[in-house]
Amino acid sequence: MQKENIVPESRDNAFRDLIIKTPGGRNIPTCMQCGICAGSCPVNHEMDYTPRELVRMIQLGLKKEVLSSNTIWICTTCFSCSVRCPRGIYPTELMETLKPIAMSEGIRNRNAKFDNVFADVIKKNGRASEFLLISKYSISEPGMIKQAPFGLALFSKGKLPLSIDKMEDVRELDAIFKLGEKSVDKEAKESTVAKESKETAPERSPKENEGQEAEK
Ligand code: SF4
Ligand code: SF4
Repeated sequence: MQKENIVPESRDNAFRDLIIKTPGGRNIPTCMQCGICAGSCPVNHEMDYTPRELVRMIQLGLKKEVLSSNTIWICTTCFSCSVRCPRGIYPTELMETLKPIAMSEGIRNRNAKFDNVFADVIKKNGRASEFLLISKYSISEPGMIKQAPFGLALFSKGKLPLSIDKMEDVRELDAIFKLGEKSVDKEAKESTVAKESKETAPERSPKENEGQEAEK
């Protein structure tokens, strides 16, 4: 599929630096665009940007384009890209880093529905339940009706149990979720502050720069 060239509205180096500090992003500057990650990805045909393209976009600080991309939500966390990248970049972890940032920035993507339903089920019960997951997701995604025969076949073979396994004390899990949300908010704030301080820093004249060089 022929893709349109990206015409960036702006580049955000603070965003790039923030992502490079995360576990999945440490080696992003060394990406050589070999495409092994994209070639290994089983769902790249559904993504608007392949993992290779996403890594390049982060190098360029294309924050808005990266966070609005459906790639981060389409990823199935299969880890094929991460185990094969010759530069030790972990696109899988990268996707998980980018999701909460996109959410904290208020960027909505229709492909985030499944993640939201999954998180909701876990938050309420502390355990995954296939039945709850499929029924809740089907309500929010009308296209799922086509999967009804498959769901019934699973149910008839006992692969879709109606019983819901629940954690003893869900409050502990709630505290973990809150901690995670706090840390995401903190990272988003730091990114904004770093960006603003770069934008408002007065530009040094060539003479001032020469002076600083001489001092060194
Ligand atoms: S496999 Fe690694 S080095 Fe190659 S394009 Fe993907 S992220 Fe970059
Ligand atoms: S982890 Fe995600 S991005 Fe990487 S190969 Fe699997 S689906 Fe594709």
